Amino acid sequence: MIRRAMSEADVVSGLRIVRDKIQQACSKRPKELSTFQPRLVAVSKTKPKELIIAAYKAGHRYFGENYVQELIDKAHDPDILEQCKEIQWHFIGHLQRNKVNKVVNIPGLHLVETVDSEKLANTINDQYGKLLRENRLKVMVQVNTSGEEAKNGCPPKEAAHLVKHIMEKCKNLEFLGLMTIGAFGYDFSLGPNPDFVSLRNCREEVCKSLNMDPSQVELSMGMSNDFEHAVEMGSSNVRVGSSIFGARQRKESSSADEKLAKRVEEVKIDNN
Ligand SMILES: *Cc1c(COP(=O)(O)O)cnc(C)c1O
Repeated sequence: MIRRAMSEADVVSGLRIVRDKIQQACSKRPKELSTFQPRLVAVSKTKPKELIIAAYKAGHRYFGENYVQELIDKAHDPDILEQCKEIQWHFIGHLQRNKVNKVVNIPGLHLVETVDSEKLANTINDQYGKLLRENRLKVMVQVNTSGEEAKNGCPPKEAAHLVKHIMEKCKNLEFLGLMTIGAFGYDFSLGPNPDFVSLRNCREEVCKSLNMDPSQVELSMGMSNDFEHAVEMGSSNVRVGSSIFGARQRKESSSADEKLAKRVEEVKIDNN
């Protein structure tokens, strides 16, 4: 391993910096949006359990993972089970229906943020129902606000219909709100991020058609590069990874160019 690993102390200070920035962004919110405290989800994907435990010991409780197997491994890890008894996991990745069973079974599952079809909602509802838990499972509907084909999520026009389906037909699920990933690298000197605007519009439509109050519908939007902006626009759930845990290693690739690029990057870091 050439790359310098983040230490536990780096993670604790990363957390503190992100929390401070969230508070600053909160103080800039218009009055009608300043009624709630946004939840910070520390996205720990690809990062070792030691860093999760360090963040937990610093008082953090909400953690997000987007690969099913990695979430399962971490949630069942003996050290995490022993030292992070109140950990709250958010699943934020694409969920295939044949893996739902494994996800709903993990200890400490708090929220599945990525329900994007009736079929998936039904499968989660059925599988979770079999566990005969007292509480319903919290879910969000993922909306593909940027319309990019490679992104998951239901089209904004279909969100209200899917929410209605969950609320009326999925008695084991508790609808919590809407989630978007959005286009990467938006320059917000150009004005409000269109993905965030779209998610807010979506909420309005959902509320209108189901006769709900917007305060009953959360918005999960904002990542490392734009969480402050998202909070100012009313996000109630920001998902922040690299600003807390450090940059992620790129996935292994067989392309010689990418390997070379990675090698150059590593040497640069090494020389720092
Ligand atoms: C990885 C990931 C994040 C966090 O990304 P960062 O840019 O590292 O903060 C947030 N949301 C989802 C869905 C992710 O997959």
